Amino acid sequence: MSKIYHVGIIGGGVSGVVTALQLANYGIENILFEQGASLVNGPPFCHLHAGGNLYPEISDEQCKLLMRQSIEMARLFTQSIDQRPTFISIPKSEKFEVAKIENRLNMLVEHYKQLIDEDPANAILGAPEDYYKIYSKEDLVALAEKPTVKRPNTHDEWISNAIKLIDYNKLKTPVFIVQEYGWNLFRLGAQAQIALNRTEYCSLKMNSEVTNIKDVRNLNLGYNWQICTKDSVYKVNYLVNSCGFNTGRIDDYLQLKAERLIEFKAAYVSKWQAIAGLIPELIFHGERGTSHGMVQLTPYCEDYYQIHGMTMDITLFENGVVQSKGNEVQPEFNEGIKQKLDRAWEEDEVKTRTEKAIEFVTKFVPSFKTATVGGPPMYGAQQIPGDDLNLRVGDVSFPYRSYARSEIVKASSALTAANQIILKIQEEEIIPSTLIKSNRNSFLDSISKNEIDKLASELAFQRGYPEAMAQLLIEVQ
Ligand SMILES: Cc1cc2nc3c(=O)[nH]c(=O)nc-3n(C[C@H](O)[C@H](O)[C@H](O)COP(=O)(O)OP(=O)(O)OC[C@H]3O[C@@H](n4cnc5c(N)ncnc54)[C@H](O)[C@@H]3O)c2cc1C
Repeated sequence: MSKIYHVGIIGGGVSGVVTALQLANYGIENILFEQGASLVNGPPFCHLHAGGNLYPEISDEQCKLLMRQSIEMARLFTQSIDQRPTFISIPKSEKFEVAKIENRLNMLVEHYKQLIDEDPANAILGAPEDYYKIYSKEDLVALAEKPTVKRPNTHDEWISNAIKLIDYNKLKTPVFIVQEYGWNLFRLGAQAQIALNRTEYCSLKMNSEVTNIKDVRNLNLGYNWQICTKDSVYKVNYLVNSCGFNTGRIDDYLQLKAERLIEFKAAYVSKWQAIAGLIPELIFHGERGTSHGMVQLTPYCEDYYQIHGMTMDITLFENGVVQSKGNEVQPEFNEGIKQKLDRAWEEDEVKTRTEKAIEFVTKFVPSFKTATVGGPPMYGAQQIPGDDLNLRVGDVSFPYRSYARSEIVKASSALTAANQIILKIQEEEIIPSTLIKSNRNSFLDSISKNEIDKLASELAFQRGYPEAMAQLLIEVQ
């Protein structure tokens, strides 16, 4: 008789791999199916949302949850975290109020203190009093006169380097610097791939698309689900659907109904002239979907910069958001977006959108006009359970016995989702309830920096991106 696995996970994005890694850490046998050739190959991520400061419109509760979840993920995947801060500003043209941003930051400092009280190892964003720093116009004028520092160490040094490049007369003051770090997806993919290949508890099936699921829960066969690929059938007791924007396809096999949105977005890779010192990530807030949407400039190694521009001709797309309707559980994009998801971007569109993105940044960083196209876009579709496009935390649901559906909106929610799933599997007594939640993972901890550097560079190269984008600006100490 073929093997029965405790847990079968469909989808090797950040959610699926973290669930597989956590299960393996507890010695629970699982099987992970990924239709692609490598792990964590779906929609990109570059920002650790440790406080939700990129989203002035979300609730304080979502901000707190994002901070907690981000800290948990950063503790697990330390070698994928780039410890450079984020500059947060509001252009004079925008309605957002700086006072509200400041109030929220104060709330987040208190929350961060609580997290450190719970566990001192949560202090990965530095001392709570340094979580953010506020700068008046006079401060900026003074810091603009200070010499540029190649590798900044203090908030003042980061701001001083950045402010010389920014047309700050266009910004409301004060502005802020916040300990929201960068997050390198190539490195996280490499960490997960090495760790899962190393553990005997996870059977990793790459290039394996799941084409059907059979529900045999009531047939007393000693297992609950049959997972079908093109040439094999696998038996599992517990089923986890981590298919990203394709979660609805698995629901469809199981005849389940659920409301969901999916959204296609892209960020652009540019190469700028060498500048004298490192800069933080730069955020210029704006109203999403209008011609003055948010600008986000993310620094990478060797003068590569990733750009998000929250307008319809840069990061967002006409018909880029679709919703499940009527009897359909899997929303469908139009043909143009499906082509892009299949990596079939027209060269012209890459050039036009990247150049528009560069121009968009020059509104606030005039010298960025010398930047050029630096690589293919980083793009993908993400899922949002329900019908609120502003939801940033996402969720796991358990619509059937022995079935979990992970629909995280941000990569930072992956560990919370995995832990909720493991708790549910314990409640169903498929695995022992004596397992204790751990924030460390022995398989991840056993990987050396050199191994991560090497595989992360290979993954970037295989996917057509500059290998430098797989390295960190700030080496982990
Ligand atoms: C432009 C953009 C920027 C973003 N930036 C950030 C950011 O800075 N920070 C952040 O936290 N989040 C960010 N996100 C969100 C983040 O990318 C997603 O939350 C996260 O990747 C979702 O992970 P997932 O594992 O749920 O899904 P996915 O990463 O989509 O993984 C699902 C996997 O399932 C596989 N799969 C699907 N169907 C099958 C099947 N039938 N058989 C086998 N395999 C299957 C797919 O190939 C895929 O690998 C961004 C998203 C976008 C689009």
